[in-house]
Amino acid sequence: RTVYVNGDYLPETEAKVSIFDRGFLMADGVYEVVTVLSGKLIDFEGHMLRLDRSLGELEMAQPDAREDLLEIHRELITRNAIDEGLIYMQVTRGNPGDRDFHYPPEGTKPTLVLFTQSMPGLIDSAKAKRGARVVTVPDLRWGRRDIKTVQLLYPSMAKMAASAAGVDDAWMIEDGLITEGTSNNAYIIKDGRIVTRALSHDILHGITRATVLRFAREAQMEVEERSFTLEEALDADEAFITSASAFVTPVVEIDGEKVGSGAPGPVAARLREIYIDESLKAAI
Ligand code: PMP
Repeated sequence: RTVYVNGDYLPETEAKVSIFDRGFLMADGVYEVVTVLSGKLIDFEGHMLRLDRSLGELEMAQPDAREDLLEIHRELITRNAIDEGLIYMQVTRGNPGDRDFHYPPEGTKPTLVLFTQSMPGLIDSAKAKRGARVVTVPDLRWGRRDIKTVQLLYPSMAKMAASAAGVDDAWMIEDGLITEGTSNNAYIIKDGRIVTRALSHDILHGITRATVLRFAREAQMEVEERSFTLEEALDADEAFITSASAFVTPVVEIDGEKVGSGAPGPVAARLREIYIDESLKAAI
């Protein structure tokens, strides 16, 4: 693979970042993942707006102008011949030259890293066809989940718990209410109404969430942005998740119990179809 590090396109084996980089020592960094379909970027603008917000919340410098970031994304698609897959972009506070909890007062040049992941089968996904199975775990993450930091240890632990239970993923619960999935937003459908937690510091503001809710409202579906319990989810007609790479993926089982009929339902299927069709049309 050809990857990008601070201005250079390099073979992945030659790419280097300092051991003093605050991303490495402090998880002092943020990231975005943009999906590529037919060699084009899905919702690029949305992801860049969220990057700006994450950087702003952490008083971190912009690594590059928006047009330059777009150019780098496109160059990596071309150099790695990505048709279907992802582009991972990470910005950290950079290398202050030593370890110190304080942000460097004079600021440091941010470290900018991008790489591609080829993933044929995102659209034609076996998991989307059969539906995902999840277990619930307590949400033990920090209180600013709206900032997309590289601090992903707890979500990794939750994914391991899901694998150990023989299922696909985990939904997290706080104060008796579902927050979100380990790397996706969580939804239920009851009597035709789509229910998903409202935006706050408690969850990541999914770019796919925003787009899917817009399409749902345009299609005259009812949307309720509010928290829901595990019991409600088990009593729902359907459940699903959204993320840049999962699009809309039905959830058919939670903690070993079937949701609805236990098979992917019509509302999630319709939303997935609309999302993929419209995203392909708007891709750049
Ligand atoms: N929640 C969490 C915790 C996530 O990590 C992600 C994916 N990065 C999402 C939700 C979905 O966000 P998006 O739709 O922007 O991929």
